[in-house]
Amino acid sequence: MVKLSDYEPIVGPQVMEELKLLSKNLAGKKVIHVNSTSVGGGVAEILDRMVPLMNELGLETRWEVIKGGEAFYAVTKKIHNALHGAPQGLEESEYEIFLDVQEENLKAMRFDGDVIFIHDPQPVGLVKARKSLGNRWIWRCHVDVSSPHPGVWNFLKAYVEQYDKSVFSAPLFSQKLSIPQALICPSIDPLSEKNREMSGEEIDGIMSRLKIPLDKPLVTQVSRFDRLKDPVGVIRAFKQARKYREARLLLVGGTADDDPEGAQVLLETRQAAGNDPDVLILSLPPTSHLEINAIQRVSTVILQKSLKEGFGLTITEALWKGKPVIAGAVGGIPLQIAHKYSGILTHSVEGTAYWLKQLLQDPSYATKLGENGREHVRQNFLLTRHIRDYLLLFLSLDYPGQSAVAL
Ligand code: UDP
Repeated sequence: MVKLSDYEPIVGPQVMEELKLLSKNLAGKKVIHVNSTSVGGGVAEILDRMVPLMNELGLETRWEVIKGGEAFYAVTKKIHNALHGAPQGLEESEYEIFLDVQEENLKAMRFDGDVIFIHDPQPVGLVKARKSLGNRWIWRCHVDVSSPHPGVWNFLKAYVEQYDKSVFSAPLFSQKLSIPQALICPSIDPLSEKNREMSGEEIDGIMSRLKIPLDKPLVTQVSRFDRLKDPVGVIRAFKQARKYREARLLLVGGTADDDPEGAQVLLETRQAAGNDPDVLILSLPPTSHLEINAIQRVSTVILQKSLKEGFGLTITEALWKGKPVIAGAVGGIPLQIAHKYSGILTHSVEGTAYWLKQLLQDPSYATKLGENGREHVRQNFLLTRHIRDYLLLFLSLDYPGQSAVAL
């Protein structure tokens, strides 16, 4: 099991001291995290690592998962899409399914913590238990709700406003609310399979298994096959830049069996690639963390030519590996990339092609961007920073309305 001290060589002693100081002031506090799945997805991944570390820091932390059937998850999927701006709302019967599951879980669960930390919309209605308990409740939104379906958002908002505090991942993802909001960026775990250091031998083994040749500079985009990730734009930009510099393009995405649109986008991507031997398209199962890690590590330049983006964790991952990244200036990407300092921000196929050509021609500039990017991630987007922000958040619950607290 990973221990807190394993992070010290990565983030330095000062960060560890800070975590200890903050947690000393929270010793013995009981925190219960609640979400809707124990495996799969970014929230479960983070909680899996964070909960044992919080316990090590002296906060009695437990993680519970609500129970719901197929019909409930069909409804919550619709809610998720509606929060992302999908035009269709929910039927009355669907709201009923949602509320019934909240009631069932309210009966089955115990909220005997000082802080109840509810993640995302699925368990939002559990806040009903707060009145009789008098403990503190936080709603952590991992979704971009900047332009939600108004009906669905208003339904959720009535619950959200019963919490003590809400947390969003970036200013641009939040909504106006009557309760205080905290802004806490997501993070990556530098010790996970996706991000841990790898030996050259281990990387080579994976490259030969995946049949990825390394005889030319490798330009990579890791993304679901989704139009908003613009894989076709990536191919067009690559083909322009390659006129000036030899290189190979690798598009890595998930399998798209259960997603008809994904399959369509994959087809369009293959068509755009044509029979170009220097454009490789690779479909990997969702558990391929080590493979993604190795691919990011052997890449010369990483692209993320998104047209719309959430926070953009693929960028965090690539920067952490010290890679020069060229990315669309959308969503959370500008929080991670300062243009021409910790990477390159672009707005078009032509811009991407231009910068790709520049970085391929000037490896020392590319290296500098990557180094700055890695440092930026070290300071801002690693798991330890995420834990620190949660500790500060818990402390702030005991001092409502105060802007400074002496510890
Ligand atoms: N990812 C993966 N396999 C793939 C494509 C993506 O494991 O084939 C991972 C990627 O490494 C990152 C996450 O999925 O950790 C994608 O997160 P991001 O925020 O970049 O985009 P999203 O897919 O959530 O829009």
